[in-house]
Amino acid sequence: MVENYLIIGGDGFVGRWVVELLIKRGETSITVFDIVQRYFDKEIKHYQGDLTNYDDISECIEKENITAVIHTASPPHDGKFEELFWKVNVEGTKNVIEACVKCGVKKLVYTSSSSVVYDGYSELINTDETAPYPEKHMNVYNETKATGEKLILEANGRNGLLTCALRPCGIFGPNDRQAIPGFIKVMEQGQTKFQIGNNENLVDWTYVENCAYAHILAVDKLSVENQTAGEAFFITNGTPVPF
Ligand code: NAD
Repeated sequence: MVENYLIIGGDGFVGRWVVELLIKRGETSITVFDIVQRYFDKEIKHYQGDLTNYDDISECIEKENITAVIHTASPPHDGKFEELFWKVNVEGTKNVIEACVKCGVKKLVYTSSSSVVYDGYSELINTDETAPYPEKHMNVYNETKATGEKLILEANGRNGLLTCALRPCGIFGPNDRQAIPGFIKVMEQGQTKFQIGNNENLVDWTYVENCAYAHILAVDKLSVENQTAGEAFFITNGTPVPF
C-alpha cells in the first residue's frame, strides 16, 4: 500500500536513517517533523515544530494527509533536564497519539528503548518481550520512555489506528551523535582510571541501519492479523559485547 510517511525526529540520528532508507526504496511521499532542521532535501517536506505543541504536530499530520507515522523524537539520553523528558517523551507522545487518532492515521510506530525494562542493577540475560517493566526505573529517561511506550500500545485500535513500539539497544553507526562522542569525552576527561565490577558485563548494541530498517518493516507489517499491532519488540544485533 502507498503510504504518506511522517518521520517525527527525522533530522536526528535514527530518524534520518529511516528517511534515507525510505528515499532509497523509492517512496515519494515523505514528510519530516523536527524541532530543528539539519537536512534540506528537495523531495521531502519539512515541518519545523515542537511536538509538545499539539497544534504544530496536528497541523502537519492533517495538511499532509499522513497515513503512517514513525515517532523517533526524544531529548538525548544524557540530558540533564528531567522536566524535558516528561514534557517531550510523555506529553509530546500524547499529542502525537491524539493527532493521529483525530486525523485517521492508520499506523504509528514508536521508537522506544531496551532500557524500559532495566532497573539499573538486575541482570537481564536472554530477556524477551515478556519481561515486565521494573517497579523502579533506573532514571527519568527510562521511566519516560516506558510511559510513552505504554501510551502508544494502549492507543492501538483507537479510530482504526494500529501501533507498535520498537526497543533498540545502544545505537551505533555513521552520524551517531551520542555513543562514540560520549566515549571520546570520557577519554578526554581522563575518566577511565577506575573499573567497577570484573569487566565481564555484557551489553547489546544495535547498528543504526538495522534499527532504521526495523522501523520500516514495522510499518509494512503492522496489522492485527500478524499479531504485531499493540506489541513491543526488542531490536538488537543479537551478540552482546563486553561493556
Ligand atoms: P537524536 O537526538 O539524534 O534524534 C532525536 C530528534 O528528535 C532530534 O533531531 C531532535 O531535534 C528531535 N526532537 C527532540 N525533541 C523534539 C521536540 N520537542 N519536537 C520535535 N522534535 C524533537 O536521537 P536518536 O539517537 O536518533 O534517538 C532516536 C530515538 O531512539 C529516541 O526516541 C531515543 O530515545 C531512542 N533510542 C536511542 C538510542 C541511542 O543509543 N541513540 C538507544 C535506544 C533508544
